[in-house]
Amino acid sequence: MSDAKIRLYVDQPLGQGQPVPLTQDQAHYLFGVMRLGPGAGVLVFNGRDGEWRADVAEVGKRGGTLVCAAQTAPLRLPPDLWLMFAPIKKARTDFIVEKAAEMGAARILPVQTRFTNSERIRQDRLQAHAVEAAEQCGGTFVPEVADLVPLDRLLDRWPADRRIMWCDETLLGARAGLLEGAGQGPARGFEEEPKRPSPGPWAILIGPEGGFAEAEQERLRRMPQVVPVSLGPRILRADTAAVAALALWQSVLGDWV
Ligand code: SAM
Repeated sequence: MSDAKIRLYVDQPLGQGQPVPLTQDQAHYLFGVMRLGPGAGVLVFNGRDGEWRADVAEVGKRGGTLVCAAQTAPLRLPPDLWLMFAPIKKARTDFIVEKAAEMGAARILPVQTRFTNSERIRQDRLQAHAVEAAEQCGGTFVPEVADLVPLDRLLDRWPADRRIMWCDETLLGARAGLLEGAGQGPARGFEEEPKRPSPGPWAILIGPEGGFAEAEQERLRRMPQVVPVSLGPRILRADTAAVAALALWQSVLGDWV
């Protein structure tokens, strides 16, 4: 067990004896804010080489160096699950990205639908939220946050083998149907013990405040990859729906099983 408490995402390769140069921001955080000195331990990960305990070797105002001492955790990849959602207000969009990273989405794709409120996103800021979420939840992987893309364009080249769990508010209160879509026979509801399927590639789709337009709904219904799913008898806000859908998927097909 390592006594190091601080977890830091870094860009550099990690391995025994590997020096890790720090950016100015990282040096400010470790030495200015957290008051670490030479020899102190930090846990570092880069999304590729697992987690390592690294010791402070050089302290500077504008930089510094850590040196990797020992691996403390292997790389743990999440299931091959994307989260597509229509961005809403800034704080709620930040929340969705943070929670998606914590809940084990492998990729986060903000999508522009007919009724999406915002026309642009700050991809770099959202990516930073995903990094922070991975740092705090003990993850060794950081999901990529893609730039905003129109839903129609994404569906035009949608891979044949990637199923879509479409959170469809028009199904309000119907049985969830996720197991049916996963090739497990008729929907059995979530109270029964599911046989663990090999889930393969999936994506969750959450709409904006205004829901999906008629034409979008028709298109989604025609796609063989799409599994329409209800999230219960109440209309959830998009941010609540994203967390509920991720929990549902993870508990039936993902790494909670
Ligand atoms: N304006 C829409 C309406 O009144 O029908 C509600 C949109 S809801 C705030 C935002 C998104 O969350 C929906 O597009 C859907 O993807 C998801 N969602 C919310 N509640 C849901 C439910 N009970 N079942 C399935 N999806 C739901």
